[in-house]
Amino acid sequence: MASKRNPVSSARALWLRCDLRLDDNPALHAACSGSESLLPIFVFDPAKFRTPTLAGAWKSSARRARFLIESVSAMRRQLESKGSGLAVVLGKAEDVLPEMCRDCSEVCLTKGVCSEETDEEKLVSGNLFSKCKLNKVWGGFLYMPDECGCAPDNVPLLFTSFKNKAESRGSIRNPMPAPGQFPPLPVPTDDNPKQHLDKALKFLPTLEQLGFPSDEVEGAMQDDPRAVMKFVGGEDVALERLKKWMFDDDKLKEYFEIRNGMLGDGYSSKLSPWLALGCISPRRIWKEAQRYEQERTKNKSTYWLVFELTWRDFYLYVGISQGIKLFLPGGITGQKYAWRGSKEALEKWKVGRTGDDLVDANMRELLATGFMSNRGRQNVASYLIFDLDVDWRYGAAHFEELLLDYDPCSNWGNWVAAAGLTGQRVNKFNTRKQLNDYDPKREYVNHWLRGSTSTVERNGSTSKDHSADKQKLVDRAKRFGLPAPELDEESKTPPSGGKGARGNGKGGKANGKGWADPKRRRWQARSEKENPAESYY
Ligand SMILES: Cc1cc2nc3c(=O)[nH]c(=O)nc-3n(C[C@H](O)[C@H](O)[C@H](O)COP(=O)(O)OP(=O)(O)OC[C@H]3O[C@@H](n4cnc5c(N)ncnc54)[C@H](O)[C@@H]3O)c2cc1C
Repeated sequence: MASKRNPVSSARALWLRCDLRLDDNPALHAACSGSESLLPIFVFDPAKFRTPTLAGAWKSSARRARFLIESVSAMRRQLESKGSGLAVVLGKAEDVLPEMCRDCSEVCLTKGVCSEETDEEKLVSGNLFSKCKLNKVWGGFLYMPDECGCAPDNVPLLFTSFKNKAESRGSIRNPMPAPGQFPPLPVPTDDNPKQHLDKALKFLPTLEQLGFPSDEVEGAMQDDPRAVMKFVGGEDVALERLKKWMFDDDKLKEYFEIRNGMLGDGYSSKLSPWLALGCISPRRIWKEAQRYEQERTKNKSTYWLVFELTWRDFYLYVGISQGIKLFLPGGITGQKYAWRGSKEALEKWKVGRTGDDLVDANMRELLATGFMSNRGRQNVASYLIFDLDVDWRYGAAHFEELLLDYDPCSNWGNWVAAAGLTGQRVNKFNTRKQLNDYDPKREYVNHWLRGSTSTVERNGSTSKDHSADKQKLVDRAKRFGLPAPELDEESKTPPSGGKGARGNGKGGKANGKGWADPKRRRWQARSEKENPAESYY
């Protein structure tokens, strides 16, 4: 039931971004507590989707946007089931939120970590009506900032030091259950009339409205049958996945041994896409792992899942403490380096035509599904940086576009670390050895490169790409103004940069269509100011 309008309003809004869940959501609790009415809002800003970033990459693929739309839709269903709702609008947050929240005294939200999110917060805060304040609340961590065992804005850059501090001095709080009671939706006013509110409470954008061309939309609506699993956005699906992987399939007990796999849904939790949008909280996963330890078994594997979630926290805190450095050519150390790899080498890497089976299989999986295993990510990143000698940021931007689980801290943090620009030890992977170690029977590479795991010999010349996959590679090359890839021949191994590059330095300047686009945001200005007029390709 809607409440009466109160002149001394305690009406609130909840601005949802990457916290699309009812469970363990501190911002939601802050918004509900003592509020006479609550308007939950999600803003789709088209600039966050089909906007060029770096070296031919876009901000988001249509597939990731689809996962987001599903997650927002699921959040609306959850809120409606509690007697509330979710207003969805299209535009810039700083333009649309002030109007929608004009009767509110507070807009609650989960505090962002990286510059795009914090810049957006500042703009919104500056545009809100004077009686309305932005209330930023931390959420989505395993170890909350006041309990992470060290100063959250000055964490050690060595993961082991961070983990040791978190484990010895920090603590993990129990997840908060969903609020028992939800304040009613606000009563429409003259300024915010009923038809506007009703429309927003029903609206969901299409992929076309977010700027995607129809061929990409069509591709994004299809699920590749070779994918590790089907990812559908939303809190209910996330909790179901957790239950299935941990308890029904009983995978947690062997996680340590199987986590380096690349094929199938069992080798790891696959929770990252839902974690990235906040459809599930890391503390809920931790709590369920504890229950598993009590009800089933406690071993190195059960510890290791929490260990991996601590990596996720680590990069969030690196994001808090290092800020924009995560996105700069020289990373955290600021080292300078002149990359020598070519645009063609980057493009072959993107479409999985480098000639290195392990790299190509992983890159095709990413292109076709939006997912790649952790083992794959480490190898393809190392290959781009050290074998192809291409700027690490171009790889990070490609991952940002395609990964369903894209998260600014985890993605750019892992990439800057892969490039050796955090000041810690660098791992250069020998992809041939890794292939022998992790895919000795070539099941994974055959699955992606030859369309079969049984009939084609390793290194055979009978490469059989799926036709849909082929078409994607051709379309992509066309989009970047490159010659169509030679789909029926194995491409030659590209020249190796070889030098064991300590990645860095020379940011690509806008020097061609779709290549290092000057409109990019996070990298804009700052990186170019650091590296004026650099054009080395
Ligand atoms: C170059 C590169 C880029 C990456 N980009 C992202 C990204 O954008 N988003 C993302 O969530 N992960 C990223 N990762 C980390 C890791 O590869 C994925 O989190 C993992 O593969 C997701 O699969 P999963 O959920 O089955 O993981 P599990 O093995 O089941 O692990 C459980 C959870 O632990 C966390 N985790 C595990 N490893 C890492 C790690 N190295 N860094 C941070 N968190 C970790 C994730 O939240 C993951 O869901 C990247 C790694 C590399 C090397």
